[in-house]
Amino acid sequence: MRLTCVLGDITEQRVDAVVNAANSSLLGGGGVDGAIHRKGGPEILAACRDLRNGHLGGGLPTGEAVATTAGELPATWVIHTVGPVWSATQDRTELLRSCYRNSLSVADRLSAANVAFPLISAGVYRWPVDDAVEQAVTTLRRCDTAVEEVRLVLFQADTFELARKRIETA
Ligand code: ADP
Repeated sequence: MRLTCVLGDITEQRVDAVVNAANSSLLGGGGVDGAIHRKGGPEILAACRDLRNGHLGGGLPTGEAVATTAGELPATWVIHTVGPVWSATQDRTELLRSCYRNSLSVADRLSAANVAFPLISAGVYRWPVDDAVEQAVTTLRRCDTAVEEVRLVLFQADTFELARKRIETA
């Protein structure tokens, strides 16, 4: 697996699967989630509703991942995962790592060759950006996967620089 990073918008990635930094409800939110639903159109939300009416009646637990159509996005699938909210008193790092691992397992089941990830939990969920980069890079590197390219998509220039340097030196 090749780990790359780009400065850009997750909704513009031409890949087999893009990962959504969703919330447990799967029914939309801000940040990446809002952008994916806005650009991907109502088909994604309809698929999420079906999941909520089916085996995910209680919502998607933190750290887990599930796939839907990508609607009108230039990708085939959206893999929704729920990052942990940052906590100063509790170590939720394992949950953050699970997001990357479980999303790649779903990608493997879909036979996706390339997958684009946002920096999970680093926005509305307030995870410190440098550690979010560290967890993303180290966890993805350790994954045993048939995915050929994993692309980290960073939305801000300074975060992209952090990721680029971390990937180069790893
Ligand atoms: P979370 O709720 O898991 O914190 P967010 O979507 O709020 O997720 O933010 C996760 C990261 O994605 C943040 O670094 C944020 O700046 C970035 N981000 C926001 N919008 C986009 C986008 N359209 N494409 C890529 N990254 C984005």
